Amino acid sequence: MNKPCLFCEIAAGRMEADVLHQDDHVVAFRDIHPQTPTHVLVIPRKHITSMLDIEPVDAELLGHMHVTARDLAKRLGIAESGYRSVFNCGRDGGQTVWHIHLHLLGGRSMGWPPW
Ligand code: C5P
Repeated sequence: MNKPCLFCEIAAGRMEADVLHQDDHVVAFRDIHPQTPTHVLVIPRKHITSMLDIEPVDAELLGHMHVTARDLAKRLGIAESGYRSVFNCGRDGGQTVWHIHLHLLGGRSMGWPPW
């Protein structure tokens, strides 16, 4: 039997996570290996494997993920100084979990470009 999707399990409440926000469409929780002082993942409840698989019908959902990230940035006190929101896609993009997630990163100055 295939292993269940980790982020679907978190979204369903069957796997533990430090959840900061949830509604009918998205769940946001702290990343277990934070890369910045604030590192939150915003995931859709709907299983979408990668950003390669998004469809026009998902546009509102993706917008809602960004609005959720912005609201969390304000709530967590990183909006004023700035933050980064990132979707990693595929091997070269650094994707390791195959359920799309928006990384909300902040709390320190970040360089560009990433490597
Ligand atoms: O973009 P990428 O797929 O590499 O990101 C996956 C992220 O999910 C990682 O930052 C990892 O630390 C996080 N993660 C998590 N909780 C898990 C498994 C992975 O926060 N149980």
